Amino acid sequence: QGALAFRDVHFSYDPERPILKGISFEVPAGKTVAIVGPSGAGKSTISRLLYRFYDVQAGAITIDGQDIRGVTQKSLRAVIGMVPQDTVLFNDTIAYNIRYGRPGATEDEVTAAAEVAQIGTFIESLPHGYDTMVGERGLKLSGGEKQRVAIARTILKAPPILILDEATSALDTTTEHEIQAALDVVSKNRTTLVIAHRLSTVINADEIIVLRDGGIAERGTHADLLAQD
Ligand code: ADP
Ligand code: ADP
Repeated sequence: QGALAFRDVHFSYDPERPILKGISFEVPAGKTVAIVGPSGAGKSTISRLLYRFYDVQAGAITIDGQDIRGVTQKSLRAVIGMVPQDTVLFNDTIAYNIRYGRPGATEDEVTAAAEVAQIGTFIESLPHGYDTMVGERGLKLSGGEKQRVAIARTILKAPPILILDEATSALDTTTEHEIQAALDVVSKNRTTLVIAHRLSTVINADEIIVLRDGGIAERGTHADLLAQD
């Protein structure tokens, strides 16, 4: 469940300047595919097309064989979860922010998700270190900690398809390793598309696709791509 396919997808924001010139790839259900490429290559455009912020101009994107042009944005958001690079959190407890992923979740489920994402200890704190009602309170979360809240939210939501946006990651190396470990837990056995700009962060992907000049320049496992260079 949750097989994703791009079939000869063409897209441009401006007809004079094509961004995707007919790209095809599949993410089989439960597998992880990473898209890497230089800034401006069209990586974020791929996630925007998946949520139908824009529709493809030729070709098709399918989920389990169904063209997503027949699926509402609301339904797509139920099926595709995203751990964005920069998470905007509500000025309410971390627990509240996590529960937003699945409002019906029990307290135990929220706690369990927070523990997998390694933020179990400050779940009752506020994310911004400031509460307009009571003044100073709680923590001011770092970028890495905010990302863990997004991970916990996604663990709770458990969408069949996951987009991990690492493209503009500005985390320090220690944080990056910890986040990576949490992300590996979330993406295990889940159809996952990782948007990254460095090969080193996507070593475990089943396939890596290198996007360049609107097309797929190279593809293969991490080992395949290293062998080619
Ligand atoms: P990446 O994520 O690989 O850095 P993007 O998908 O964000 O690349 O952008 C691909 C290209 O499309 C870039 O040249 C960018 O300037 C252009 N672009 C992105 N969004 C828009 C937009 N809304 N209108 C016009 N051009 C855009
Ligand atoms: P929700 O369950 O709240 O709809 P999602 O997991 O679908 O959340 O997405 C997380 C957030 O990221 C949403 O607010 C969504 O609008 C936003 N988002 C998704 N894709 C993109 C994208 N390509 N660019 C910018 N924002 C995005």
